[in-house]
Amino acid sequence: MARYTGPVCRLCRRHGEKLFLKGERCFTPKCSFERRPNPPGPRPARRRKVSDRGLQLREKQRARVAYGVLEKQFVRYYKEAIRRPGVSGENLVRLLETRLDNIVYRLGFADSRSQARQIVRHGIITVDGRKLDVPSAHLKEGETVGFTPRGLRSEYYKIVQENIKSKNVPSWLTLDVAAMKGRVSGMPTVAQGETHLFNENVIIEYYSR
Ligand code: SF4
Repeated sequence: MARYTGPVCRLCRRHGEKLFLKGERCFTPKCSFERRPNPPGPRPARRRKVSDRGLQLREKQRARVAYGVLEKQFVRYYKEAIRRPGVSGENLVRLLETRLDNIVYRLGFADSRSQARQIVRHGIITVDGRKLDVPSAHLKEGETVGFTPRGLRSEYYKIVQENIKSKNVPSWLTLDVAAMKGRVSGMPTVAQGETHLFNENVIIEYYSR
């Protein structure tokens, strides 16, 4: 499965804001953006005005990078969002939020979406009691997320168990800390997505042209 493997802090500097791609490190003074908020590469000789299309592109790129989705997959999400009934922007946010890797991250089973993707790929996550190792799988309301027996025996599980109490879980997910299981108890709304980073309607406009 294709994924971005380059330096991630560079992406925050390129987009001009913190995208929180590295878990705990993003909240410490070690954050590269805190130390060097300028864009990577040589300083341009003169500042160019960004067109409306350019601004829309930036919005789309920020969302794509934040959720760790490549362009081809993101276009598929857009097509699915406009095909579904309802508001397309909301559908897009819902498609991004209900990905298995995002839910594992939101439940606090991983520090970042990239770590969540990694543990899903390692086959230590279950959905409704059955192992599922596809990070892009979409979860439905009522489904539960937990660890496989191998996952329960791992060192990683012990670390997560120790740290999970301090995590805030969004209202559309329910976390049972004692059982270390999460449940999709509702569907995410736009306000519960990473919408402080991007405007979903601008992304829909970007692809509609
Ligand atoms: Fe971005 Fe986190 Fe790196 Fe800071 S530490 S630049 S927020 S990925």
